[in-house]
Amino acid sequence: MPKISDGLDDWRRTHYSREVTPDLDGASVTVFGRVQSIRRQGGITFIILNDMKGIVQVTVHRENSERSLLEKVERLPQYSLIGVRGVVRSIVKAPHGAEILPSEIKILSEPRKDLPFDPYGRVEQSIDKRLDLRMVDLLRPQSNAIFKIRSVVLESIREYLYSRDFIEVNTPKIISSATEGGAALFPLLYYDKEAFLAQSPQLYKEQLAAVFEKVFEIGPIFRAEQFRTLKHLSEAVSVDVEQAYVNYIDVMELLEGMLKHVVDTVHKRCECELATLNVKLEPVKLPLKRVTYDEVLHILEGGGVKVEWGEDLSTPILKTYSKIFPSYHFIIDWPTKSKAFYIKPKRDRPEVCESFDFMYGSVELASGGSRIDDRKELTERLKEKGLNPKNFEYHLKTFNYGIPPHAGFGLGLDRFIMVLVGVENIREVVLYPRDPQRLTP
Ligand code: ATP
Ligand code: MG
Repeated sequence: MPKISDGLDDWRRTHYSREVTPDLDGASVTVFGRVQSIRRQGGITFIILNDMKGIVQVTVHRENSERSLLEKVERLPQYSLIGVRGVVRSIVKAPHGAEILPSEIKILSEPRKDLPFDPYGRVEQSIDKRLDLRMVDLLRPQSNAIFKIRSVVLESIREYLYSRDFIEVNTPKIISSATEGGAALFPLLYYDKEAFLAQSPQLYKEQLAAVFEKVFEIGPIFRAEQFRTLKHLSEAVSVDVEQAYVNYIDVMELLEGMLKHVVDTVHKRCECELATLNVKLEPVKLPLKRVTYDEVLHILEGGGVKVEWGEDLSTPILKTYSKIFPSYHFIIDWPTKSKAFYIKPKRDRPEVCESFDFMYGSVELASGGSRIDDRKELTERLKEKGLNPKNFEYHLKTFNYGIPPHAGFGLGLDRFIMVLVGVENIREVVLYPRDPQRLTP
């Protein structure tokens, strides 16, 4: 039976694992972490302690250790969470050239059960098994690295947009009607009324751009997609950007700059994590290639794939053409009927709209465009799409009070991370993914 915790008392961390280096030789330190491994060899026990910044070796010599310490080390189970107080000794063979000779160890928590898999081991586990006990899976260096990179990506996106005067907003996720059409919405009971989970902050961010001019939101979007693919989730995170007094060309440039900043930052700040994942980031060369929808159709036709003009381009179809464009690029100038009602048709060719999809090979990472800023035109487009303008009155009425020309995009954060760290399954890059088959943990 595991003992109750020794308790934290007045112990506080003085150093992270990684900071225990030869220059601290002789210094007293207190560290905390999880026991990654224990190796007993003659009169010496080596404990590898794992904390948020890496590992440190704790070495117990039977000869000159107190009995109470030895008893504790004797029964110490792997994966326990412990605190260690001791003195640093410089030693070439230890990780980062130093070890801790402990004077006291506190056992703060011990596993009550065998772990279903060894997070520090080499045996690959199925993703479902890992997701069922995600907390343990996150101890795996690879999973752990993905989420540290994800955090740096979020930070650098904010950094980039803040430095360009964008303000961060939060819009409601419980809404009364569809943003983009009736399908793919999760209904819920809102007191005695029907409501829905928001599939996108689109209309709100457009209203906010009319006031704040440059806005962005990083938040969840909910899609009741029925199919199970490696790129779709029921709950995803979207980076939504909207700007006044610009068009789709300007926001494509903004997105390009953001991409470059993020990739450069991850390259600089996530060296260890990228090495753990065995990922070499490709440097971003700007400007990115812009291929028109018409050109894509032409390329596809050359490859023997016939697509009716006006149709959306599905992933299997795009597979053919992504051999020519395997990396980041834009597909621009989509047929108006293939895009949402709020996208602005081109003046000189209204069957085509001022729109883009930001792609990585055949994977869609973002959609964006210039937006319609005229109430009458927007109402017409709603009707053409078979939507009832009455349901959008809360939005349409804002157009009575001045809406500037504006443009923006929605970038799927999870899809972007997936591409960045080179994994096939979007579930790998989401802490607790939601799909038609998964609602826990
Ligand atoms: P797709 O055609 O790939 O289903 P979409 O065109 O329906 O995507 P948009 O409405 O354009 O998606 O949303 C903007 C971005 O949000 C997408 O480019 C994608 O990166 C991301 N996204 C949309 N739906 C999902 C989803 N179900 N799971 C994960 N990411 C999504
Ligand atoms: Mg899209």
